[in-house]
Formats: sequence, structure tokens, C-alpha cells
Amino acid sequence: MDYISTRGSAPALDFAGATLAGLANDGGLYLPREWPHFSEAEIAAMAGLPYAELAARIMQPFVGDSLTPERLLDLTRAAYGRFAHKAVTPLKQLDEQQWLLELFHGPTLAFKDVALQLLGLLFEEFLGRGDENLTIVGATSGDTGSAAIDAVAGRAKVDIFMLHPKGRVSDVQRRQMTTVLAPNVHNIAIEGATFDDAQATVKRMFGDTAMTSRFNIGAVNSINWARLMAQVVYYFAAGLQLGAPQREVAFAVPTGNFGDVFAGYVAAQMGLPVARLIVATNVNDILHRALTTGDYSQGTVTPTAAPSMDIQVSSNFERLLYDLGRRDGVALAAQMAKFESTKAMQLTNSQREGAARLFSSSRADADDMAQAIRWAWEKCGELIDPHTACGLHAALASGIAREVPVVTLATAHPAKFRDAVERATGQRPPLPARVGDLFEREERCVDLAGDYAAIAEYVSAHAMPKG
Ligand SMILES: *Cc1c(COP(=O)(O)O)cnc(C)c1O
Repeated sequence: MDYISTRGSAPALDFAGATLAGLANDGGLYLPREWPHFSEAEIAAMAGLPYAELAARIMQPFVGDSLTPERLLDLTRAAYGRFAHKAVTPLKQLDEQQWLLELFHGPTLAFKDVALQLLGLLFEEFLGRGDENLTIVGATSGDTGSAAIDAVAGRAKVDIFMLHPKGRVSDVQRRQMTTVLAPNVHNIAIEGATFDDAQATVKRMFGDTAMTSRFNIGAVNSINWARLMAQVVYYFAAGLQLGAPQREVAFAVPTGNFGDVFAGYVAAQMGLPVARLIVATNVNDILHRALTTGDYSQGTVTPTAAPSMDIQVSSNFERLLYDLGRRDGVALAAQMAKFESTKAMQLTNSQREGAARLFSSSRADADDMAQAIRWAWEKCGELIDPHTACGLHAALASGIAREVPVVTLATAHPAKFRDAVERATGQRPPLPARVGDLFEREERCVDLAGDYAAIAEYVSAHAMPKG
């Protein structure tokens, strides 16, 4: 399988190349040249596989010749062996129609671990084949940072620079990043910034030849294809448990950068019978507006109790627009250039109609979130976090036919956002034992102003050159 850029002018790469490159050098995102497809019989034969085996089965066509099937299985077993639940992503029933897919049993308590535990191993595997070093530069609204740092801390040949908007992540999120003292980990708090500002800085660095000539800049954000690939697996895992391939399933997905829900779209292209993908946003609702009116225009970011969704530029939406726009990279590059210069664009009719076939959307304000948290607690005895609450709000309001199970992706452990959970329910979820003495540990982080030059200079001074 080779990988092509959504903007049509970067070189095609194999899986290993696309994993290490992250963003394409024309500013686009890598996608596989075509979607692999499983027949009904092939999907039926996956029922009951342990998660690591299912993961290797689903991912093999994307990986192609970059890894043997045996090696891929070694890596999925190592990645998912660190999860605190044997099922890795267990499914929990809430009522006759509603289900929760718990994606937070990894080391840092959010779904980001599912992809990043594997991505850390993929980096090590592919870098081990040559003499190159990798400089990971990432932006985080909280959860990608901690999951990526856990996945690469102490690994040879990798430095990680993680930018977060100062004061806009929860105390648990911040400490999970800043208490990792491995010398290859560099936390940067950006003053006066939002996640979107931090993400724009990261994207700019990929196009800065002064930087890319000295460093192999790599990505751990969901602009990295390998992350989305790993997330496709749990859509299959949930679908199989609920009766796929014979039965359709709908998914409600708390959405920020459109990565997780795009993985659901990929699962559908691969043959999983998906009745609907419900894009759940908080009040930062650019995607809800785009999907309902066709207007993709960047508003200002409002901080909410679900900070990992406080995003107004959803990078992976570009992958959907490309796929729905008959994969015309030249047209998409023009559309994205317009968005980047004016902060607004209209979806074409074919993009709108294509999206409407599979996606619907919903927006949750602070009251909606609190109500969904209370509903789960009072009706079902489950504590859920505010991100999951946006998804559950969307699921309960979706009006999907009663015979179709609706699975809400539970993207974070409630203890990661325990203040909001406590405000809604009066219950304070305890931190699981696997995070240990998080609040006792020393923190290390530098504060930088938001200007690009200061950040590029800091990275240059601390990163290992290419090799
Ligand atoms: C990252 C994150 C999201 C949003 O996921 P995207 O892939 O960016 O759409 C939702 N919930 C939590 C808890 C997250 O960490």
C-alpha cells in the first residue's frame, strides 16, 4: 500500500515513510491510495479474536510490506499488553439501545493511548532500520501530549517537543506530561494561546525548510495516518460484538480534530456496516456548522469542561473532503488555501451530500454535558467524563431507529476530569492506581511566548539533528 497527499503534490510514500513523515511536504495529509475492503465472510471470521490479533488483521493491508504479519502482531501485543482491561476497549451496555465503548484503559486514561502506544513502537521499529533521528513536534489540548510522551519517553533516536496552551489543560492532563522527566521529553507551555494556535505552529514547522533541512520533523497528532489506522480497529471490535456483519451499528463520537470519527468513516469504507456516524461537538462547533449548513468557518475558541474538543480547525476534516471530492488534490489544495487565508470556506455540493450520507452532528453546551453526565450516573450507575458526555448527549438525541445499537465512544476516564464530574453528580471519581503518585511528582516545563521564532529556536537548541 502506498500513501498519497490530500494536496496532490507531495511524493507517495510507503507505510513506514508516511508514519515517520507525519504531515506531507505540500501541507496535505497522507491517505492510503485506496481503501482495503473486507468481505462479509472475512468480517464474520474476525468475531471473538483477542484485541491484539484483531488489530493486526485490520491493519495488515495498510501496513503492506513495511512489516511482516508476525512482526505486526508482536507490536500489537506489546502495545495492548499495557492496557488495564483484558478486552482493551470493553463495551458496556447502558440501556436497550445505548452502549459505551470504553477507550480509556491505557496508561494515560484517554483513547489517545490506543493509537499512541502502537505509534511509539512503530517509530522505534522503523528508526531502528537506519541512522536517522526523529524530532517529534506536537500540539496538544491535553490528551495527545500525555499519551505521546508516555509512548516515546526514554526511547533512543527520538526527541519529543509537546506544545500545550498554558492554563487550558486540566491538572491531571498537565501533570501526566510535565512529570515525565526523561531527557528526550520537552514540554512547552505557550502563553496566551489556544490549541489552534499551537497546532498552526506545528504545521508551520513542517513547511519550514530551515528546520526540515536539519531535523526529521515527525508528528504524533492525528495528522499522522498511523494513528487513525489504529483507531479503525475498535470500531470493528464494537461492531463485531454487536452483531456485525449482519447488523448495523451507529457511533456517537466526541470530536475535536475529526481524527477519531474519521477512523469510523474508514471502518465503513472497509466494509463494516455503519448505520451512522454522529459527530458530537461542544460549543466549539465548526464541524456541526459545516455538516449542517456547509459553512466551514473558524470561530473563536471558547474554553469548556471538555478541553480536548476546544478546537475550531479540525485538521482531519481535510481527509474527508478529499475523499468525498473524488480525490482531486489540486481542487482541494485551492479550497484549503482559501480557508487558510480567509478562515472560512464553503463545502461543495458533492462534499455536503457525500457527508450527509453517513454523518450527522450535534452540539452540546455546558448544561447538555452536565445533563448527560447525570443521566449516565442516575439511570445507569456509570460516571462519564465531559467529552464522553458530549457523545452521549448526541446519541440520546439522535433519533436512530430503536433496533440499531448506538455506541458512544467513551474517550476519557472520568477521573481525568473529576472536577466537572463532581460538579454534575456530587461523586468524585478516584484516580486509578496505574497513574500512581502523580500529584507528588516533580514537574518540568518551559513557558514560551506564542511566536513561531521562539519555538523554532527552542526546538533547534534541544533536538538531535537528522543523523
Ligand atoms: C482528543 C480527544 C477527543 C477528540 O478526538 P479527535 O480525534 O481530535 O476528534 C475527544 N475526547 C477526548 C477525551 C480526547 O482526548
